Amino acid sequence: APYQTVDVHDLLDATLVMLQAKVPAGVRVVREYDRSLPAVPAYAAELNQVWTNLIDNALAAMAGEGTLTVRTGRTEDRLTVEVRDTGPGIPPEVRPRIFEPFFTTKAVGEGTGLGLDISYRIVVNKHHGDIRVRSEPGDTRFEVLLPLTPA
Ligand code: ADP
Ligand code: MG
Repeated sequence: APYQTVDVHDLLDATLVMLQAKVPAGVRVVREYDRSLPAVPAYAAELNQVWTNLIDNALAAMAGEGTLTVRTGRTEDRLTVEVRDTGPGIPPEVRPRIFEPFFTTKAVGEGTGLGLDISYRIVVNKHHGDIRVRSEPGDTRFEVLLPLTPA
């Protein structure tokens, strides 16, 4: 897949449209975009996989009821995308394992346990970015940081 300069908002919108049918009636989707952010060098298809994985997890965690917030921003030299849900949160004993391949707390057939492993590799290895997690009951945030300039 090509390395292009992309507006992450276009990617996020495309992912949200793709997932529209999976958003339950009781889940509100809030977009807090900073449209003034510059386009970034990225592998668009791979980043869409990351947004899909994070949003899919957020929706699963909320089990039909809550608010999904997708927010963009920046630090000094990185663009940030935060996917946030109001679900029950990640239990402390689970937290150290979530990026392991095949680790899942979902029922057989509902989760492969590969979403975060793949997302981590796409963001960290392929884009030289980072993923940070903060979670407490009712407020879980996955923050993806992407370099604003080519590596
Ligand atoms: P899968 O979704 O197939 O289980 P992932 O790698 O995407 O695999 O996620 C691994 C595990 O991390 C999930 O099974 C779940 O326990 C936990 N997790 C991920 N995102 C969230 C979230 N937003 N809220 C609570 N738990 C989460
Ligand atoms: Mg997943």
